[in-house]
Amino acid sequence: MPNEIKKVAVLTSGGDAPGMNAAVRAVVRASCYHQLECFGVFQGYQGLIENKIEPFSARSVNNIVNKGGTILKSARSLEFRTPEGRKKAHKNLLALSIDALVVIGGDGSFTGAMIFQSEFDFPVIGIPGTIDNDIYGTQYTLGYDTAINTVVEVIDKIRDTASSHNRLFFVEVMGRDAGHIALNSGIGAGAEEILIPEENRGLEQLLESLKRSEKSGKSSSIVVVAEGDKTGDNVFELAAYVEKNLPYYEVRVSVLGHMQRGGSPSCFDRVLASRMGIHAVESLLDGKSNVMVGVINDKMQLTPLDQAIKGESAINKELLRVTDILSI
Ligand code: ATP
Repeated sequence: MPNEIKKVAVLTSGGDAPGMNAAVRAVVRASCYHQLECFGVFQGYQGLIENKIEPFSARSVNNIVNKGGTILKSARSLEFRTPEGRKKAHKNLLALSIDALVVIGGDGSFTGAMIFQSEFDFPVIGIPGTIDNDIYGTQYTLGYDTAINTVVEVIDKIRDTASSHNRLFFVEVMGRDAGHIALNSGIGAGAEEILIPEENRGLEQLLESLKRSEKSGKSSSIVVVAEGDKTGDNVFELAAYVEKNLPYYEVRVSVLGHMQRGGSPSCFDRVLASRMGIHAVESLLDGKSNVMVGVINDKMQLTPLDQAIKGESAINKELLRVTDILSI
């Protein structure tokens, strides 16, 4: 119902992502702008259950727009998966007369929000914060742009050492189910091959392509592999297979790991987070609930949480062709 919302709480949940702080700041300041009281919940859903809820003013979020991670901390809460845990969380929100909850996180966090909303008829709204960019209903999730820029920067450095020694590098990047990070950072960094979960072209094709590269006189090669790629069992096994079959290559593996989550958010992520935070608060005031804020064709959009969770965020197949053409 419009104008029934007077107090809003915000939390960050699941894996942290650069831009979460900028989104918290935007939620808090948009609430203040609209004369709502705002509360920060520490440690995600676990903090709701343990009553780690504090009043926030516009000044509570000074100097965080540029910070990576999340000042609210994140947590994976097993207790919130139980009805008893959620009941405690609801009791704590009621005790502070909080009327609505903004959840910044990924699909697991949105599932929790949806269940909470349906059990207690409690208004919730989601902001997609995950570096994987694997959420339906938005072209970009918070942290994705920063992550691909981090990966490109690191691959540029790896290329320097690869070309000094004629090495072939397999670089594993995050993406258990989605190849967005691999595909975009791979193209940006000029990778020879990009292996993603959505498209398994098989080992033979990989060997053929690397043979071609060697014959064409390339001095080094980079293969970007998403964590969830199925071409080999894992990146080490894949590298060993290539080394065995193409002995002229000196093969190395680099697993980038958690550094991809860290760092100061890019300007793109800060602007996106700012827009999403404001849109989340204004949508709540507009009576919206059980939806996620997203951006499509540069316009803010709302998508029902169940669709955001279940829908497919498909990769752009044109980008596969771009890689094929440019790795000639
Ligand atoms: P990422 O994409 O970075 O992993 P995420 O939001 O998907 O982020 P999860 O660990 O899957 O991260 O979920 C975050 C939290 O959401 C969980 O720790 C749990 O508290 C809550 N949650 C997830 N699934 C459910 C569920 N089915 N019921 C209730 N709560 C849930």
